[in-house]
Amino acid sequence: MLSHSDLKSGLLRLDLGKHLVIAHASLKAFGSVDAETLLNALLDTTRGVIMPAFTYKTMLNPEVGPPNNGMAYGTQVDLNKLAEAFHADMPVDPMMGVLAEVLRKHPKALRSSHPIQSFTGIHADAILNSQSIFDSLAPIGVLADNDGWVLLLGVDHAVNTSIHYAEKLAGRMQFIRWALTRERAVECPGFPGDSEGFNAIAGDVEKYTRRVEIGGALVQAVHLKSLIQAVMQKIREDPFALLCDRADCERCNAVRWS
Ligand SMILES: [Zn+2]
Repeated sequence: MLSHSDLKSGLLRLDLGKHLVIAHASLKAFGSVDAETLLNALLDTTRGVIMPAFTYKTMLNPEVGPPNNGMAYGTQVDLNKLAEAFHADMPVDPMMGVLAEVLRKHPKALRSSHPIQSFTGIHADAILNSQSIFDSLAPIGVLADNDGWVLLLGVDHAVNTSIHYAEKLAGRMQFIRWALTRERAVECPGFPGDSEGFNAIAGDVEKYTRRVEIGGALVQAVHLKSLIQAVMQKIREDPFALLCDRADCERCNAVRWS
């Protein structure tokens, strides 16, 4: 089992003590590690941490909707019946990993209130408060303006939410989704595309990437503002950059047709 000091000494080598970070993590990649211990080590070695705390079970699939929106309408009538209204204590989707849920439950953590794409964090209140239903990825922009970093803990760019923010800045089409809240169903504009093809950015951000190995996990820190610029540049050069190769990918295909 990795100890707090194993984790702390590894993370210290990334030299992020003065910086806020957006973290994405797979605990499995570390071999044996306790989520609370990892979170404490992160808090000890950075200025503050945010993570996506997304909740996909609030999502609704309407019968009809706008064209070329990267989804098939009326196909998930049964799932609609299972949709749950977003509330502040709703657990983070298991797909986001255990660490995000542990962060959300930390007594010092704040969580934003977007019904699908909330973020949670500690020592990052202004960043979290920048989010609105119309600008779900605003926290990433504010984090970039504050010289923030992306921290990929045993995961790769395929889960790097910040790339979605850069895609939006580059003018790539965004989608509309719908979610249930306790008051009503709400329209959520600015929903991002598919991230499966995002590892194609790795070479472009090599210069802005720091790496350490901790336990079995590769931990990468990428300077956020540089990442955003690299993604925008790549999409300027090739409007289809960073899309995935899956022939039936509804959102990547929608971008190609737009
Ligand atoms: Zn795709």
